[in-house]
Amino acid sequence: MSWASVNSIPDSIDGDGRDFEPELEPLMCATCGTEIEVGPEGPYPTVCPACLQPLDLETQFAYSRGRDAFAVGQEILIRISPRLRKRNLFTTEELEGLEYYKQAYSSLQLAFQGVLAEQQRWLGVEMMAAIVNILLQHQLISELEFGFWGSLNKEQNIQQECVEVQHKMTGLPHGLFTFLVRLRWHLRLRQLQKALRELDANIHKFQRLIRFTEPVNARRIPDRGK
Ligand SMILES: [Zn+2]
Repeated sequence: MSWASVNSIPDSIDGDGRDFEPELEPLMCATCGTEIEVGPEGPYPTVCPACLQPLDLETQFAYSRGRDAFAVGQEILIRISPRLRKRNLFTTEELEGLEYYKQAYSSLQLAFQGVLAEQQRWLGVEMMAAIVNILLQHQLISELEFGFWGSLNKEQNIQQECVEVQHKMTGLPHGLFTFLVRLRWHLRLRQLQKALRELDANIHKFQRLIRFTEPVNARRIPDRGK
């Protein structure tokens, strides 16, 4: 199945056999990260009550749909043991789980066309990496899409480790006894930075080869805050 056909899956799936209801996530302001609680009937605010910037509700709803479908799909697929999965390629349960994953994949793609709050972007990339892993096993996506989302996930994990190492180095007192520790962290940081440069080149290569028709805003915007 190509990118386009995964994209054309309808936005809602009937809840047959669905016995797991994920918790409703609050909307989030992409600018300042403020969580906005809205009742099931609305009304939906058009601007963030904290920073007064306009809210992109379409992007927020696409994200919620994606996250919701992912949670249900994961709950279904987790119940099937990997051994059974291999022996019996398409059980009814597995097909149902895959449907939710495909729905999550298309909704999250739509959400990434807009701008998400950093916390949502982070989690969205993690969900996409988990989804493409399963979809590739069933040849429902291309190796390129798998490579793209997998690389983005690796990139954000390494970015996170960089921040942690830098934090540890800042907290280390200067002196002879800490010299070796500092040296070790310094070398680790250089290793991570090299890995990030390689990933950046790979991500650009995947983007070129996939030829996205819409922008995919899935990479961290530096210094954006939360
Ligand atoms: Zn805000």
